[in-house]
Amino acid sequence: MNPGATGTRTVPLTSVEVGEDAERLVLEVMRSGMLAQGTMVARLEDAFAQVIGVEHVVAVSNGTVALTAALRAAGIGPGDEVITTAFSFNATLNAILEVGAVARFADIGPDCTIDPDSAAALVNPRTAALMPVHLYGAPADMTALTELARRHGLAVIEDAAQAHGACHRGRAVGSFGVGAFSLYGTKNITCGEGGLVTTDDAALADRLRLLRNQGMRRRYEYEAVGYNWRLTDLQAAVAVPQVDRIATILERRTAHARTLNRALADVPGLVLPTEPHDGVHAWHQYTVRVTAEAGVGRDELGARLTEAGVGHGVYYPRLMYDHECYRQHPGVRPDPAPHAAAACAQVLSLPVHPGLDERDLDQVGMSVRRALGA
Ligand SMILES: *Cc1c(COP(=O)(O)O)cnc(C)c1O
Repeated sequence: MNPGATGTRTVPLTSVEVGEDAERLVLEVMRSGMLAQGTMVARLEDAFAQVIGVEHVVAVSNGTVALTAALRAAGIGPGDEVITTAFSFNATLNAILEVGAVARFADIGPDCTIDPDSAAALVNPRTAALMPVHLYGAPADMTALTELARRHGLAVIEDAAQAHGACHRGRAVGSFGVGAFSLYGTKNITCGEGGLVTTDDAALADRLRLLRNQGMRRRYEYEAVGYNWRLTDLQAAVAVPQVDRIATILERRTAHARTLNRALADVPGLVLPTEPHDGVHAWHQYTVRVTAEAGVGRDELGARLTEAGVGHGVYYPRLMYDHECYRQHPGVRPDPAPHAAAACAQVLSLPVHPGLDERDLDQVGMSVRRALGA
């Protein structure tokens, strides 16, 4: 986080709001004598299935595991290529490499999610899955991607880690393919660490449950080589009330994004995020692009915002594959992605979380304008 100058109030980039309802549920679990996976995890799974509109939700230990588990359960592994975006958090790439598949990288569109045409150009006989990322909470174009997958018989694994409640044409993300959500400490719904896999496929959900619990169907009868991917009831108790009030969380984030869009509407050189015309943005991040016309570079703007006590972040400064540890990796094909590379140099995320009040939003808007001389 970014501490402000002395005497300046600081608007943090993220906040966590856990209410008394969560405290009560946690206490209930603590007194129940069952702290590991039990009825509270089941309650979380049922509540989330309702929200996303899917038949099955399988809770796991974190979002990276959710992605890995989804790929594994879909049968993706060595010899397979997975097409994802070049512009995401590296958990997306690490999950693909963890199952032994090869990662291919499509470029992005103006909303910073995967460009379906760029993805289509990478399809070849080894392609087994598409892995779009609903980055910042913006729903990827699931109509085009689902059609592309259908045409080539590909699995669709949605990285919805940042997009709880986002929709594309009236359907929640995570319901088009197999969805992977994160409950990490900064995500729209959080219990510190946690993950949720969503699917309508009963056989796939069954495999996920088996793999999550050492491949064990009945006590000490092993049907598959498995893992311990379980979430605990203690964590689920923190998340359940947030799932119950997800509509309010979404409303507040949306209202804040709209306020910022109004406050920054006419700032030269600043490209503001837009709401999808046929969907719902989950506003995990409110991300602007600082272009050359702004007169002040992205990093200089960040420094001035730190001075003004406004939290901010760069998601992400480099393409996923643009790090030393991936250079010689046999599973990484560094496909060119010029639009994503441009985004790396321009994006800056500002506070949009539900904990902000009017004064905070004023401070964010005014500080950005002042920093850019607008
Ligand atoms: C947070 C995140 C993940 C990983 O989730 P964890 O719970 O931190 O393991 C994966 N993909 C994206 C896009 C994320 O933002």
